[in-house]
Amino acid sequence: MSNKAVLKKGKEKPFLQRHHWIFSGAIDSLQLDKPGSLAPVYSSGGTLLGTAYFNPSSSIIGRIVVFGGGCPLEAIKNQIDSAISLREQLFQEKITNAYRLIHGEGDGIPGLIVDKYADVLILQVSTLGIEYLKSEIVSHLLLRFPSCRMIYEKSHLPTRKEEGLPEYEGLLKGELLDEVLIKENGISYYVSFPESQKTGFFLDQRNMRTLIREYAQGKRVLNCFSYTGGFSLSALTGGAITVDSVDISSPALDLAKRNFALNGFPPEKFGFYASNVFHFLRDHPLDYEMIILDPPAFAKRKIDIVQACRGYKDINRLAMQKVPSGSFLLTCSCSYHVDATLFQKVIFQAALESQRKIRILSRHLQAEDHPINIFHPEGEYLKSLFLFVE
Ligand code: SAH
Repeated sequence: MSNKAVLKKGKEKPFLQRHHWIFSGAIDSLQLDKPGSLAPVYSSGGTLLGTAYFNPSSSIIGRIVVFGGGCPLEAIKNQIDSAISLREQLFQEKITNAYRLIHGEGDGIPGLIVDKYADVLILQVSTLGIEYLKSEIVSHLLLRFPSCRMIYEKSHLPTRKEEGLPEYEGLLKGELLDEVLIKENGISYYVSFPESQKTGFFLDQRNMRTLIREYAQGKRVLNCFSYTGGFSLSALTGGAITVDSVDISSPALDLAKRNFALNGFPPEKFGFYASNVFHFLRDHPLDYEMIILDPPAFAKRKIDIVQACRGYKDINRLAMQKVPSGSFLLTCSCSYHVDATLFQKVIFQAALESQRKIRILSRHLQAEDHPINIFHPEGEYLKSLFLFVE
C-alpha cells in the first residue's frame, strides 16, 4: 500500500493559499503506512497538490511540507538553506550570534524550531512527522554547520501529547555542553541548557531589549520576569542608573548575576528579587522611570483567555498606578490566544482603572528571526506596547 491522501471536493484551499495545515474535515480518503509519515495529496479531481505528513490522532491531521510536485526531503533541505541565508542577511555573527534559525511555518517547515546559540544548535520538535524526518534534518544542519559543537533537542511541549510523543530532551550530535557563551548586540550572556526555559534564551525579544537600551539613559529600571537578565543588561548598557530584576526562578536569577559580572556590572550593586511579580508589584512602591513587563504566556490554551487577560490587566494596572509621572512602560504578551487587538483592550482597561494618562509610543512584534509567513498568520504570537505614563 502506498501512502496517498485525497481531498474532498472544493477543499483545496490550503494548497491554493499556501497555508500549511490540513484539517480532518478536508480529507476524503487517507492511506498511510503509519502515523507521521509523508503522503502525496491529491484534489478530488486527481491533481497532485503537494506532500504533507499526516497524523490521524492530531486535530491538524496534515502539515504540508511541499506545495506542488517536488520531493519533500529536498524541499525541507531547500527551506533550511533559505532560512540560513535569510539569517546571514539579518545578523553579523561578531555582534549577534544567537538567533532563531528555523521558525516552523514561518520558514516553511511545520513542526520544527531550530535556535542557534553560537556554535550550538537546539531543536524543538512538535510533531511526529518531524520526529521521523529528524535524522535527515540533523544531517543537513551538520553539513551546513560543520564546526557546530553540539546539536541538542529540547522538546518540552504539552502539544506533543496530542501527537503521541512524550516530552524529550537529549543530545543528538556532538559533545554534551552544559552552557555556551552567546552575544546579542554586543552584550554577552551564558545560556545554560539543563537549567534553561524554552530552548535557552528568549530570542524573540531581541528588538525590545534594543528599544530599552535606547531609552534607559539616566533611568531607574525595574525588569519584571527578568529570566537571565536580558532586559536588565540592555538597560545598564544603555546608561540606566540602576536596575532591579524580579523573577520567580532562583536559578534564572543566579545566571542573571553571572551575566551581570560577565559584562562588567558587579551583581552585588543591583537588586535581584526571587519573587512572584504579582506580589512584588503590589508590595513595593515602584519608584522607577522605566518598567518592563515580559511575562510568560498566561494563556497557553484558548480556554485560559479570560484568566490570562485578568493577569495581564492586574500587573499592568499596578505598574501604571504606582510609577512616577513621566515613566516608560514596556508591556508584552507572548500568548498566541490573546491577539494584538485583545491585548490592547486589556491595556486600555488597565489604564482606565489606574486613572493615569497613558500614550502608546510604539507597537511591536516578535523579532525578525521569527518571521511570520504571510500565508500562515498563526505564526504571530508576540506583541509589545511601549507606553508613556503621565
Ligand atoms: N524577559 C525575559 C524573558 C521572560 S520569560 C528575557 O528577556 O530573557 C518569563 C520569565 O517569567 C521566566 O524567567 C519565569 O521564570 C518567570 N516567571 C513566570 N511566572 C512568574 C511570576 N508569577 N513571577 C515572577 N516571575 C515569573
